[in-house]
Amino acid sequence: MAKKMYDTPLLDQLESGPWPSFVTGLKRLAKDKSYVVDLLGQLETSYRTRKGYWKGGTVGVFGYGGGVIPRFTELKDENEKPLFPEAAEFHTLRVQPPAGMHYDTATLRKMCDVWEKYGSGLIAFHGQSGDIMFQGCTTDNVQPAFDALNEMGFDLGGAGPALRTSMSCVGAARCELSCYNEAKALTSVINANLDDMHRPALPYKFKFKFSGCGNDCVNAIQRSDFAVIGTWRDNMQINNGYARKYYAEHGMTDLVNDVIARCPTKAIQVMKKSEVKSAPHVSVAELDDELRLVIDNKDCVRCVHCLNVIRGGLLPGKDRGISILVGGKGVLKIGATMGTVVVPFMKMESDEDFEKLNELARNVLDFFAENALEHERTGEMIDRIGLVNFLEGVGLPVDANMVLEPRSNPYVRTDGWDEEVAKVKAQKSAAA
Ligand code: SF4
Repeated sequence: MAKKMYDTPLLDQLESGPWPSFVTGLKRLAKDKSYVVDLLGQLETSYRTRKGYWKGGTVGVFGYGGGVIPRFTELKDENEKPLFPEAAEFHTLRVQPPAGMHYDTATLRKMCDVWEKYGSGLIAFHGQSGDIMFQGCTTDNVQPAFDALNEMGFDLGGAGPALRTSMSCVGAARCELSCYNEAKALTSVINANLDDMHRPALPYKFKFKFSGCGNDCVNAIQRSDFAVIGTWRDNMQINNGYARKYYAEHGMTDLVNDVIARCPTKAIQVMKKSEVKSAPHVSVAELDDELRLVIDNKDCVRCVHCLNVIRGGLLPGKDRGISILVGGKGVLKIGATMGTVVVPFMKMESDEDFEKLNELARNVLDFFAENALEHERTGEMIDRIGLVNFLEGVGLPVDANMVLEPRSNPYVRTDGWDEEVAKVKAQKSAAA
């Protein structure tokens, strides 16, 4: 039986809306746990005074340098005694979810039992970091709670200036747009670099994320330093049954407004059957007996929009693989950035392919460790040193498509150009 509840008039208001309230959940837990009663007391104080009262500190488990977010109360009386003593420590364990976040119910129940026993009972699936957040634990219980979770096969995630917990989309298990084995890519890259997660020694955080297609369901392009996005390089595949079904249900207006007008590169058109000329780079879907949807694959940038709308009727090609982008992140020194494509296409099927991905991931991580400044993300580092220097440093070829914008300065220094031309000519004639 838990201690008596405090009055929480401000928190109570959060239960009055139409949505499920975390306050209701906390009150349910508070029936058996004095820990949560005091948490509600501290929270109500925060709402009243409009101040947060948690401060950090150092709490960890043996052998790990990160993964636990320490929280100690700052609400003390004049004798330095906590005003809400049961919740004076409220640490969070960041735990890595399985790739694709697939669980069975037995595992979820076991996790709940562990957290009922050692923590507050409050679990977030999943935090912004991608981790399972086991919230609310005393310093003494951090080690036994971790041991119990570790016994189940789970490991702590990243915190601080370290390799962070990774995320992959639900992937091939439930999505027909998946272009590679996201779960395998995640586990092989993260397992190979676990040391950088558990012993923070980087200049700042570094995130890998894996999405199976251009929908980028884990926000890899906006949110990760190293984004792996599934794509294909041959022609889109067609399922005429589903394409006809879409057209029968939606008609020409929807097709034009939702598909054709929204293709960013104008790669799609509707034609009469008799007008369609077959070509190696063209995919043709049947809309009815007379009309055809014609996709020019050499103009398609694989944004996946038309595949999303004509679900099942248009599918990724057979020659699938990944694109790699670096430098995405939320707002920081240079504003929010999206990742830049540094590898347009790479196969991801054989063990050698995964090995190649691992090697590149390690090179980028090493380059970041050696060249980034304190508190600087990969995107900011590239902005400071220049993309060409980054590419040279990690051993990737420079491509003309990587030019951010055409030059605006019409004056060009030509010093050394004649010598360069002479050198190239000499090399060519030597080779001939
Ligand atoms: Fe256009 Fe290709 Fe995107 Fe379809 S996937 S909307 S064809 S760019």
